[in-house]
Amino acid sequence: MAGTPRAHLLTTGTAEDYRRVLAEGIDRVGTRIARTDRPFTGVSPAALAPAVAAVDLDRPLADATAALDELEEVYLRDAVYFHHPRYLAHLNCPVVIPALLGEAVLTAVNSSLDTWDQSAGGTLIERRLIDWTARRIGLGPAADGVFTSGGSQSNLQALLLAREEACARNPAPRRELLPRLRVLTSAAGHFSVQKAATLLGLDADAVRTVPTDADRRMCPDALHAELTRCQRDGHIVMAVVATAGTTDFGSIDPLDAIADRCAAAGARLHVDAAYGCGLLVSPTRRHLLAGIERADSVTVDYHKSFFQPVSSSALLVRDGQVLRHATYHADYLNPAPRASGEQLPNQVDKSLQTTRRFDALKLWLTLRMMGPDAVGELFDEVIDRADGAWRLLAGDPRFEVVTRPTLSTVVFRYLPPAPAGHLADDANRHARRALAASGAAVVAGTRVDGRQYLKFTLLNPETTLDDVAHVVDLIAGHADRYVGERAAAVAPCPVG
Ligand SMILES: *Cc1c(COP(=O)(O)O)cnc(C)c1O
Repeated sequence: MAGTPRAHLLTTGTAEDYRRVLAEGIDRVGTRIARTDRPFTGVSPAALAPAVAAVDLDRPLADATAALDELEEVYLRDAVYFHHPRYLAHLNCPVVIPALLGEAVLTAVNSSLDTWDQSAGGTLIERRLIDWTARRIGLGPAADGVFTSGGSQSNLQALLLAREEACARNPAPRRELLPRLRVLTSAAGHFSVQKAATLLGLDADAVRTVPTDADRRMCPDALHAELTRCQRDGHIVMAVVATAGTTDFGSIDPLDAIADRCAAAGARLHVDAAYGCGLLVSPTRRHLLAGIERADSVTVDYHKSFFQPVSSSALLVRDGQVLRHATYHADYLNPAPRASGEQLPNQVDKSLQTTRRFDALKLWLTLRMMGPDAVGELFDEVIDRADGAWRLLAGDPRFEVVTRPTLSTVVFRYLPPAPAGHLADDANRHARRALAASGAAVVAGTRVDGRQYLKFTLLNPETTLDDVAHVVDLIAGHADRYVGERAAAVAPCPVG
């Protein structure tokens, strides 16, 4: 790019360059997206690393065109493309165009949502979306919340607030309280709960696992038993974390029954709806979240089931006052309010982050250009597809399926013919690797009760049942070949 370093700054004088360079980048990506014929090239880290290592970061290229040419080689060509209908692996959604428009606007204007004096209207837009989400959940008039970088951070903040509430309500000194604090979640809950507990200085065994039923939903009676046990042992349950859409199974804990047990025991209820939050806008399945309105706090990941680009998440709380536990005042940033002075809305008072992206703009433009029903219809469609995939697998003798999906994941495994049963774990692992290496499709793997399983996470309405059937056949093919080769390798000498 010719000219002085200042020519690269987006300023009054360079708006035209900004238009041209961004248009070129968008054009590249548009071409790449349109031409993608498989979700992944199957490239290995070893094959790709030399190209990345060879880039001389101290010697810039001539212009955007050269930089984009290079980027094709080190990134765009081999990236994993979630918009491809045979990407079936993790909780990554294809993204809606209105949100991409929001992303382009928010990075260029570059508002920072920590204080009013760095964002102005951005703060008001984020607050509207927090109110909108809280109302969809049904959290009541005192609700509040804040956008976060993701579900892990939302869960961390929820548990921070829970810890502080538990300490505030209990007169004992903090150092005596901390080792007594417990968090109850199901065996299918997200690992970020455990991570958060560690970060919050809780005991290594502070997170207690509540058993699930056959559909991988927390058992309310088991929760009751654990609450009683904690009370008997002098432990303080600072939060029960229910999951509305478990990462592996898409199962939704029985929220109403759990809320009953929490209310009886005086325990805070946090609902991790990182995955299931899309039901908030579903025209046909909102009832699956019944009881979520009784939560003290809720995690939502718009970047999972609202078809938003990473990152876009929020933590909502029933009582906005609890957010004060995240408040610190810095004289240079958000000085403590004076009795007389006007108090500006500073979102940093509610957040674990300081400088913070205006992610809310993506959801704003999505709602303004599509409306909530359209988003919910997309989520409904992938849930329907998952049910179709379940039928397909449940009726296929080559496979075993764990549970019928409530949301859009299907956990299953290939079953080798009887004498090769002991090869099941290896065959499933192999099939997943071989599939990814071929680039024909990407599926996830997980372990259930100590055995290796495969997982479809369906978040792309473009994925048809034919795509699913095709991938199922590819998996069976890879697994069959693996079992055949292994069986041949260990076969005894032919008799006669
Ligand atoms: C994905 C997920 C999380 C973590 O969210 P990130 O945005 O990846 O940090 C938490 N809980 C559940 C149930 C999830 O599925």
